[in-house]
Amino acid sequence: MLTPDDSALQAVRRRHELRVLDSVVAHGSRTRRELEEDTKLSRTTLSAIVGDLRLRGVLTEHSQEFHAAGRNGRPTKALSLNPTAGAAVGIELGRRRISISVLGFDGTAVAHERSDVSSSVPLDGKIALAADMVANLIRDGRINPETVIGTGVGIASRHANPASLSDGIDHQSEPRGATLDPLRQVLPAPLLWDNNIRLAAMAYERDNDDLLYVVLSAGVSSAMVTGGKLLRGGNGIAGELGHISVDFAGPACWCGRHGCLESFVNEANILMEVARRGQPLASIADMAVAAEQGDGIATNVVSWAGELLARAVVGACVLLDPSRVVIAGELSQFGEPLLEPVRHALAEQNLDLGPRATEVTTAPFAPNAGSDGAARMALKHWALAATS
Ligand SMILES: [Zn+2]
Repeated sequence: MLTPDDSALQAVRRRHELRVLDSVVAHGSRTRRELEEDTKLSRTTLSAIVGDLRLRGVLTEHSQEFHAAGRNGRPTKALSLNPTAGAAVGIELGRRRISISVLGFDGTAVAHERSDVSSSVPLDGKIALAADMVANLIRDGRINPETVIGTGVGIASRHANPASLSDGIDHQSEPRGATLDPLRQVLPAPLLWDNNIRLAAMAYERDNDDLLYVVLSAGVSSAMVTGGKLLRGGNGIAGELGHISVDFAGPACWCGRHGCLESFVNEANILMEVARRGQPLASIADMAVAAEQGDGIATNVVSWAGELLARAVVGACVLLDPSRVVIAGELSQFGEPLLEPVRHALAEQNLDLGPRATEVTTAPFAPNAGSDGAARMALKHWALAATS
């Protein structure tokens, strides 16, 4: 068992290690001398850290071919990341699918694995299945537990208490109805979990930017990323647009309010609306085709949905000013006709700051977004954000 002194020493060592990794990630390749300057670590400490990282397969050392020879005439040796070493593991426990992503220290994908699962399997069953999948990936050499610095887990229908996310070294409180211990047992790296769709937003984050990610399918789920980090808020639900009222005189929502975006803009209600207007269609895909072919009713309903979406998105943009709005989910198939009212509403609002630059796009189809985002959150939490 670890004593408090042991864990304090481990934490210091971990911080030193992350300083070394951060420098190598930033520059791609670094000599020991350069690392000494970057990290301000003593030669002895650095040597121990580098030795350990090499032994674990995280760093590789090679002669720098295009670099001047060192003082003694020998070619300078440089350290770089082992491109096959996974730094972070992301696991999505979705309603019908378990997905695993392994990302390297520079954020590139090292491995992906997916498995369909019945939606009737309870969360602890999905956790056990995911633990088996991780164990297999370890056995196949596609995950090396020695190089993994953190695990992120995205869970459908669960939201993490933001107060429990501040220190990933201690165990976070468990999701309702299950324990994540089976995953901790197969992969000893520290683990953080949160809602799967919120973590998927992290898969679209680039260069520490600000983005609003909105998934329109059976309901509305959304999340805001600010400065490259998931905005969690006081209750872990910051950036959820579904329950912004877009019509105070609208129908009662299950949340207790009236005219919430989600009660209008969801798959079932959109199909009911086209039927009500005299054009029954079997699916959102059929409706997207009809709208594209110029069907008047389908086109009008898409514009109507886009205008309701615009009301909520403009409100969010006033408050949070993202540089990008990314629309995903089943309804994103409507494409431009859905986005146009959102762009129009954003352009129409003159805040006297000159033209507002907010890019509005649909998300490219990414079946691994949930696990990629979870891994990216882990990478940011433990590695890339370590020196910021
Ligand atoms: Zn509501």
